[in-house]
Amino acid sequence: MEEGLVDREVMEFDVVIVGAGPAGLATAYHLQTLCDAHNAKAEGPPLEPEIVVLEKGKEVGAHIFSGAVMDPKGIAEIMPDWKEQGAPIEAEVTGDEVWSFKEGGGKKLPFTPPSLRNHGCYVVSLNKLIRWFGEKVEEKGVAIFPGFPGRELVYEGNKVKGVQLADAGLDKEGKPKSNYEPGGIVQGKVTVLAEGSRGSLTKGLIQKLSLQGRNPQNYETGVKEVWEVPKDRFESGFVLHAMGWPHPKTVTGGGWIYGMGDGPGGGRLVSVGFVTSLDYKDPSTDPHRYFQLFKTHPKLRAILEGGEMLDYGAKSLPAGGFFSMPKPTGDGFILIGDNAGFMNNMRLKGIHLAFLSGKLAAETIFEALKKEQVAENPAEILSGESLAGFRQRFEQSWAKTELYATRNFHQGFEKGRTAGMINAAFVTLFGGKGTLWRDGLPSIPDYATKEKLNGRKIPEPPKLPELGSLTFDKVTDVFRSGTIHEEDQPSHLQILEPDVCASKCTQEYGNPCRFFCPAQVYEWVEEGSGHLQLNPSNCVHCKTCDIVDPYQIINWVTPEGGGGPGYHLL
Ligand code: SF4
Repeated sequence: MEEGLVDREVMEFDVVIVGAGPAGLATAYHLQTLCDAHNAKAEGPPLEPEIVVLEKGKEVGAHIFSGAVMDPKGIAEIMPDWKEQGAPIEAEVTGDEVWSFKEGGGKKLPFTPPSLRNHGCYVVSLNKLIRWFGEKVEEKGVAIFPGFPGRELVYEGNKVKGVQLADAGLDKEGKPKSNYEPGGIVQGKVTVLAEGSRGSLTKGLIQKLSLQGRNPQNYETGVKEVWEVPKDRFESGFVLHAMGWPHPKTVTGGGWIYGMGDGPGGGRLVSVGFVTSLDYKDPSTDPHRYFQLFKTHPKLRAILEGGEMLDYGAKSLPAGGFFSMPKPTGDGFILIGDNAGFMNNMRLKGIHLAFLSGKLAAETIFEALKKEQVAENPAEILSGESLAGFRQRFEQSWAKTELYATRNFHQGFEKGRTAGMINAAFVTLFGGKGTLWRDGLPSIPDYATKEKLNGRKIPEPPKLPELGSLTFDKVTDVFRSGTIHEEDQPSHLQILEPDVCASKCTQEYGNPCRFFCPAQVYEWVEEGSGHLQLNPSNCVHCKTCDIVDPYQIINWVTPEGGGGPGYHLL
């Protein structure tokens, strides 16, 4: 459709929040709490901002996925009685172990490193928790619109004025079908971007306004399944982390298994997953394959064999740490949560930081709205300057202290696992300094670390044993994720230079998209001279392709509303 010919409905709000994850919902919940308290005191004119939360998933929680061991101090900041109010938790953490895996064996570390001690934390299903928290937000009178994906930001110069939603009812060629509805424009005085890791709106905003931090953001891809196993196999609340095999020494990351609550069949639910850092060099690296191999380790096999896999998902996560956090505010917008790098990679935790970032955004907006009420020139109040208070609040918060104390952790793994572990020891001992002689370790973007084949044949990935019972191919896993997209719509994976795929990329990197995508969206078809086939309806919205494609010609945009995974236990 030619943009000038489209008549778009305009909806006006005071605060537009993009993303109903922990950060976005925390903003909505806390802002409404602050306004309610202000109005109850009746010390000034009442504050009744129109707040809306836009969510691309078909329902709140459908796209939410985390490990997930939650440090409760984030949610407690905005809802001190979160447990009494009935927040769904799987179990309080009962114990930790960290293992160093080798093929077929390995050993338990004699002590758990401080960053991986989880005493006082909770094993949760983040999508169950977020479904519950979404109801709490709605009980406060805040509108949440699921199935409303933001397609583009609306600008006036460099000021963000809101979001244009994705069109619905376009066919594969982009022509309107009988149910065509142009995406409306949702305008707000402030737009809070809580899109999650590698948000598609945030990506464009960071480029347009040069908001990148000192380092580019670096990412990992986490792949996870929830299984139901006999109860005596694994204790509810127990947390086991493992590093090493099946990753080679040049690839970093690691795996976990956490004991959850009771399953639908009366057994124990366990969360099992594996994370691969995306700064790897070998273009045949396949995060999904590593995860499947991880489950065949004797320690995991003994727990999972004979059980049933119930849910699958994948997501990227920001791993760069403090120096990779972008400038979080500007005229009319605030970036929060994973989107803004609120993730402690050394602790493998981000939920508490996401909640806190939402709280800080809510306080910043609340103060600005109060000033706006009495200002002579209200239009200027909700500008970059007043929203810059978000950064000051962050600087004075425990989130800054925590992230600063791990600021050189991720960069230390650039030279491999052993160097990374030595660096991690320095980070722990010296309050965040990576080495005794150097602070502020640099990093390069993940797409730039891939090594060219230089005439070598790309290696075939190792075969998976027990395919169909202990390990699964990508298509079977996607089926378990509940992923659904309307098939007849324009591809939401935009390949900006398709010619590169079958020529330059085949020669130089062997088409790594067929390996790094954990949902088999990219398939190499050996027909004639071969070509790439896209299956966008498989996409679980992890954003790995957008991050790691070496030519940066894959642009992930939001599909039609409601498309994507339908997670229920992750
Ligand atoms: Fe993830 Fe991209 Fe594959 Fe979708 S197409 S599942 S975003 S790698």
